[in-house]
Amino acid sequence: MRIGHGYDVHRLVENRALILGGVEIPHDRGLLGHSDADVLTHALMDALLGAAGLWDIGHAFPDSDDSFKDISSLVLLERVMTMLEDRGYKVGNVDTTILAQQPKLASYLPLMRRNLAVILKVSEDRINIKATTEEGLGWTGREEGMGAHAVCILEEG
Ligand code: MG
Repeated sequence: MRIGHGYDVHRLVENRALILGGVEIPHDRGLLGHSDADVLTHALMDALLGAAGLWDIGHAFPDSDDSFKDISSLVLLERVMTMLEDRGYKVGNVDTTILAQQPKLASYLPLMRRNLAVILKVSEDRINIKATTEEGLGWTGREEGMGAHAVCILEEG
């Protein structure tokens, strides 16, 4: 059994879609990044890669590579799963937290969970997604960006 941790941040800007866990969420701004900037899926990928000792998503998918521009992070997550399966790992469970002042995310969490569970090939109860504000404090509170934390367990064999 191996444990992994991931953390990611993206800046909120105008004229970008807001994508979290592969779900497009209506909002007046979205997250800026080379890919679709899905901060939840990025934190999750870093947790999975970290558990396997495979560095991080910047190492796996360099942003100098134009083939990753605007790519769906769910496609990248599928590639991470292939890397893990090639090494004999399967996902035990995942727990995540999104940091966002706005919008309210609770009604979208089940859809995000379904998306991630399909790709990770686990039942939905092995994927947990929480969303919290930081009470108006700091850069998330000022709505300058969103962050996400993720931890996971990988099982061997
Ligand atoms: Mg990122």
